[in-house]
Amino acid sequence: MATEHTEATIKIQAKDRHFMHPWEDVTAIGSEARTVIAKAEGIYITDSDGNRLIDGPGGMWCVNVGHGREEIVEAVAAQMRDLSYFSPWSATAAPAAILAERLAALAPGDLNNVFFTTGGSTAVDSALRFVFFYNNCLGRPEKKHIISRVGAYHGSTYLSASCSGKMLEKANMDMVEDRVHLIQNPNPALRPAGMSTEGFCDQKVEDLERKILELGADKVAAFIAEPVLASGGVIIPPEGYYQRCHEVCRKHDVLFIADEVVTAFGRLGHYFASKDVFGVEPDMLTTAKGLTSGYVPMGALFISDRLMVDIKAAGNESKGFFSGFTYSGHPVAAAAALANLDIFERDALLDHVHNVAPHFEKRLQELADLPMVRDIRVKGLMAGVECCLDPDKPDNERDMNFLLEVDDICQENGLLLRPVYSSAVLSPPLTITTKQIDTLVGILRLGLETAWKKYKA
Ligand code: PMP
Repeated sequence: MATEHTEATIKIQAKDRHFMHPWEDVTAIGSEARTVIAKAEGIYITDSDGNRLIDGPGGMWCVNVGHGREEIVEAVAAQMRDLSYFSPWSATAAPAAILAERLAALAPGDLNNVFFTTGGSTAVDSALRFVFFYNNCLGRPEKKHIISRVGAYHGSTYLSASCSGKMLEKANMDMVEDRVHLIQNPNPALRPAGMSTEGFCDQKVEDLERKILELGADKVAAFIAEPVLASGGVIIPPEGYYQRCHEVCRKHDVLFIADEVVTAFGRLGHYFASKDVFGVEPDMLTTAKGLTSGYVPMGALFISDRLMVDIKAAGNESKGFFSGFTYSGHPVAAAAALANLDIFERDALLDHVHNVAPHFEKRLQELADLPMVRDIRVKGLMAGVECCLDPDKPDNERDMNFLLEVDDICQENGLLLRPVYSSAVLSPPLTITTKQIDTLVGILRLGLETAWKKYKA
C-alpha cells in the first residue's frame, strides 16, 4: 500500500525479509513491504497501521466461518489442555474419531474412509499415492497415468504440483512428467465462435475420452478435477460437464478424484459440491481450508468403500497403505474442525450462502459496464472478475500489473483483493451480509475505475 506506515509496521516489515513467503521471487526476497495483518474479526482484517479491510479472498479461500470465532478458540484451548497430541499410528483419540464419523455422514456416496492430512496438498498427494497403491494391489502396475487440466491447482508437493496446470508456476520447478497429462479445461471463454455451449461441453468431454484412449484405458489410473477451477481464475464448467466426465471415467475404469479443497464446506452452498451441485459421487475427494476455516491446518482425503472392497477382493494377504503423517488426525485440528462444523449448523450457514449468493452475483455482474472488464464468473460465494485492457491485444503481464494497481487502490479504500493473473478473485467469509457485499463491490468498482483512469493517463 502506498500509505505512510507506523514505526511498528516498518519494524515488522524489516524482520519479514527473513520470512521466505510462498511463491516468492527469490531474487527479490525482502524487497516488498507487505501489508502487515494484525487482527481479524468477522469478514474484516485490520493491518498494523489500524486500517480495516474486507477480507475479499477469505484468507486463501479458507476463512469460511469468518475470523475471530470464540467457539473455535475455546475448543482449541480446551483440547490443548486435555490432550495436545497423540500418536495416530498406535492409538486413537475422540476428536479425530468423532470428526471422521461426522464427515463420512456428510460426504457423498460411500466416501466413508477419512484419511486426515496436514492440508490440501498432502490430501491430493495422498489421493494420488492411494491410486498407485490401489492399482498395485489389483495387480495392474501399469495403470498409473493421471489426467489433469490446464489451469488447475492441486498443491505444492512434488506430486500434487505435477498435477497442477498453472504453467507459469511450473517454470524452473521439476515435475513428475511421465505419468501426468493435461487436457484443456472447460473455460467458456475458450469456446470457438459459432459453437454452442452444448457443443463446447461435448468437445471438452471428448478431450478427456480421447486422452484416455490415446494413453490406453489400461494405463490411465485417475482423472483429478476441481468442480470449479479456483485459483485458475474461477472457471465454471458448462452444464453437465463434470457429470459426463465422471461417466467417461466409469466407462474406462478410471478413478475420479474431486479436488474440493476450495469448494467444500459451504463455498457453493453445500458441504460438498460434487454431489449436491454437480451430481457426481467421486471415488475420492480431497478437502482442507474450510474444514477448519483456516484456524488450524488440516486436510482430509475421503476414499470410497468400493475401493477398499476391491483391494480386499484382490487377495488374501494384508495390504498396508504405507503413508501418513505425524499429525494425521491431530486432536487440536480435529477440535477446531468440530467447532467449525458446529458453527455451520448453529448459524445455518449453508442457508445463509443460498440467501446471499444471488445478491453477490447480481452486484458483481453490474461491473460488466466497465470498459476493462472482460468476464465476470460467479458461483456461490466465489468469483473471478477478469480484466483486459485491450481486447484486441491481450497482454497477460500488463493486465496482471493493472490488477495489482487495482488491489492497491482497493486496499487504500478498505478491501483486500486477490489478483490471479488478469482476474480479481473473491471468496469472502461465508458470513458476509448483503450490505457488506454492496460495500465490497462498491470499492472494487472504485478500484477498477481509478486504475483505469491512471492507465489511460
Ligand atoms: N487443491 C486446491 C483446489 C487448492 O485450491 C489448493 C490451495 N489453494 C490446494 C489443493 C492445496 O492446498 P494447501 O495449500 O492447503 O496445501
